[in-house]
Amino acid sequence: MKSKTEQMKEIKDEVLNLKNSPLYAERIKNKVFPVIGEGNHDAKIMFVGEAPGKNEALTGRPFCGASGRVLDELLDSINLKRESVYITNIVKDRPTANRDPSPEEIKIYGPFLDRQIEIIQPKIIATLGRYSAEYIMKKFGLGSQIESIGRMRGKVFQAQASYGEIKIIPLLHPAVALYNSFSRDDLKKDFQSLKNLDIK
Ligand code: URA
Repeated sequence: MKSKTEQMKEIKDEVLNLKNSPLYAERIKNKVFPVIGEGNHDAKIMFVGEAPGKNEALTGRPFCGASGRVLDELLDSINLKRESVYITNIVKDRPTANRDPSPEEIKIYGPFLDRQIEIIQPKIIATLGRYSAEYIMKKFGLGSQIESIGRMRGKVFQAQASYGEIKIIPLLHPAVALYNSFSRDDLKKDFQSLKNLDIK
């Protein structure tokens, strides 16, 4: 049986060579990196964002720019350490000029996220933004309960994974606090629904 680290390495190698991705050529041209994910391979809680931004593609690390600083503040507000959770995105390469991920990109990269979920087997999946909320809700058979992210934020959904019961919590993307559409306090309130679960 391969270790979790070995399985994650296989995912990384496959993504590095993902020549059929529309984002591959751009990554090579710009000499940047795919962002696979980071954190504890035995995490109880997994955060799923959308796609890497500029800083993430430059470093190969998820949420390490301005949105990442908001995420750190939110984690801190519920006493969660980055090292204790696992953080990843649906799309592993940066979409050109920070545009939203396309359905084609989600289709190509989604199976890597599916494998990461099977490796880590988190009890809680917290989605960041509407793309990951929709992907994860559909994946776990909750498609009929999808509403706007504004209505779903902070709600706890029960679902069945291959390895047992899980909870799914759709959260707003941390970047909304940067564009003034929501305050950090709004996001912190939603994060409290994580605090009320057994997350340690
Ligand atoms: N936004 C995301 O959705 N993911 C990142 O890794 C960074 C910004």
